[in-house]
Amino acid sequence: MLAIRAAKLFDGIGPELVERPVVLAEGGRVVAVHPGGSVPAGAELLDLGDVTLLPGFVDTHVHLAFDASEDAVGRLRRAGDEELLDRMRAAGRAALAVGVTTVRDLGDRGYLALRLREETAKDPTAGPTVLASGPPITTARGHCWFLGGQAEGVDAIRAAVRERAERGVDVVKVMVTGGDLTPGSDPFHVQYSHAELLAAVREAHRHGLPATAHAHSAAGIADAVAAGFDMVEHCFFVTEITDESDETDTGVDYDRRILDDMARLGVVASLTLGALPGGPPPPPRIARRIPGLVAGLAAMREAGVGVVCGSDSGIFPVKAHGSHPYSVVAMAETGFGPLEALRAATSAAARACGVACRKGCIAPGFDADVVAVAGDPLADITAVHAVTAVLREGVRVDPDKPQQGPAGP
Ligand SMILES: [Zn+2]
Repeated sequence: MLAIRAAKLFDGIGPELVERPVVLAEGGRVVAVHPGGSVPAGAELLDLGDVTLLPGFVDTHVHLAFDASEDAVGRLRRAGDEELLDRMRAAGRAALAVGVTTVRDLGDRGYLALRLREETAKDPTAGPTVLASGPPITTARGHCWFLGGQAEGVDAIRAAVRERAERGVDVVKVMVTGGDLTPGSDPFHVQYSHAELLAAVREAHRHGLPATAHAHSAAGIADAVAAGFDMVEHCFFVTEITDESDETDTGVDYDRRILDDMARLGVVASLTLGALPGGPPPPPRIARRIPGLVAGLAAMREAGVGVVCGSDSGIFPVKAHGSHPYSVVAMAETGFGPLEALRAATSAAARACGVACRKGCIAPGFDADVVAVAGDPLADITAVHAVTAVLREGVRVDPDKPQQGPAGP
């Protein structure tokens, strides 16, 4: 039995921290959490010192197959499957090193994330636990079509969902609106009819799978909610700015009725805030939207919409693999505060991803996925950057420890 000792512990729910915790783990699971620091006889002590233990982070939105370069799409399209899988292994290890012990991959090519899921299930040091959608379902030449998930019409969409269920995906992802990453795609435009979206959700639910919608615009979010999606990715209610000189146009148009529907129906918003510091300043169209986005997030909180924390790692250099702590900090700093941000990155994220009984909490029966940070992240959220140790399923996987996973590129 392993006994992990620290100064404080956030169990994933809080609000109080446990003082002088000892977490007992055996066979990869937590068996007990004792306050007060006493270690049972015969246990192997891992004293992490003056740190706070948190549940390993559950990142609800990553793209392991994108390499976070300036040309992430081009580099993906030029890579063969084996080379791509090697990059995905490295991306997974980068996430694990900052305390992300579970990732939900929402867009790979050729179901490669399912191969990685198998590898990391066998070896906790090889990367995080992987949950995956496979290639997102999209229209012909629609958003991220090059990942291979093109399907149009009710029958083709049902078949596409069935194929994913047979492959063993953990979630079905549909590109409800276009996106910025794909030339020729319009993030404000809804790609599918109501009948098509309904067919996707019903088929996913028939197979016991949750369905998540990529949607940027209010129209896309409303259509996703009306079709019964369980979750909306991004969910920022952005609108097209047609006239840059019109200063009354904020580029954001959140709709309180849609937010109320989301809260009432339990549709979760998977927010993809935050970025690495030091990047170029945001382009004017994005900068102009920031006040509206912050107001929209406040309205979301007021309406009681469930929120979880995703990074969208991989798509741009400022969204590097391992940037997830910046998403947690951004959530706290855009009005959610440290407690809600930490829940959104742990227990709430695990619940939304369907792994609530294994991940996101430090409690008996849960996987012993633990991250240790210097300081108290409830007092100062930036403590999540100061990771001193990471354990996945009870195995220490710190970045400075030698990794035994498959060799990277
Ligand atoms: Zn994404």
